Amino acid sequence: MASTPIKGQGTPVLLGIPWDAQSSYLRGPAGAPPLIREAFDCEASNKWAETGVDLGVPGVFSDAGDLQILEGASAFELIEKAVGAWLDRGYRPLSLGGDHSITYPIVRALSQRVPELTIVQFDAHGDLYDQFEGNKYSHACPFARIMEEGCAQRLVQLGIRANNAHQRAQAARFGVEVIEMRDLPAQERLKLTGPVYISFDVDVLDPAFAPGISHREPGGMSVREAVAHLHAIEGQIVGADLVEYNPKLDLSGLTATVCGKLLKEILGKMIA
Ligand code: MN
Ligand code: MN
Repeated sequence: MASTPIKGQGTPVLLGIPWDAQSSYLRGPAGAPPLIREAFDCEASNKWAETGVDLGVPGVFSDAGDLQILEGASAFELIEKAVGAWLDRGYRPLSLGGDHSITYPIVRALSQRVPELTIVQFDAHGDLYDQFEGNKYSHACPFARIMEEGCAQRLVQLGIRANNAHQRAQAARFGVEVIEMRDLPAQERLKLTGPVYISFDVDVLDPAFAPGISHREPGGMSVREAVAHLHAIEGQIVGADLVEYNPKLDLSGLTATVCGKLLKEILGKMIA
């Protein structure tokens, strides 16, 4: 495996992941990538991140299109290989769409190249189940796999508001830093050092702001709270994902617009 050091300075590359086969409740996030791009490109808004980064300048980021995942193929293997190939070419991956299970193969690829990774997970849920309904690779489990394989040194979870006894025990077992929704604001806890991966599950937002998600958990972040915490992250951002947007429940298209906004602010953070 190549071992190019990641300085957190390579060009971000968008990679659509049209895959939702590990969803436990509703399918839909496989359809997210083109709708997030469309919202990002929508002429109703300009291409500037709030932090003053112009994303309309050619070359500030690349777009690799959507990953082709054929029926019967091992999606996790394909995702890990594709992300690894972009990292080896000096790019920083920002994946669009998919259910949250995809973070496991992405972080596996990163962990082989980036030591001492810190993950910041925006989520209503811990996704720390040892297994969910008999499935160890469900979108309810990725961070259990990541932590038991030692793929990250630190996991900081933000916006959690649905932890049961099992997930609380798992968080304690893995030393996860859980910042619950009721403990916000918590910008000062995001002053990190070293390589940082941002995993953004759209259901961290209150369903009033983002109804297009599979697991609506009321009492969540406003878009402003999410953006404020994104902006507060310090460290070298080596990659990110934007997962769990479900277009099938996004009747007004509002959630797509929110995802376009989040994409802008995440890209702005990566480039700044
Ligand atoms: Mn999640
Ligand atoms: Mn979630």
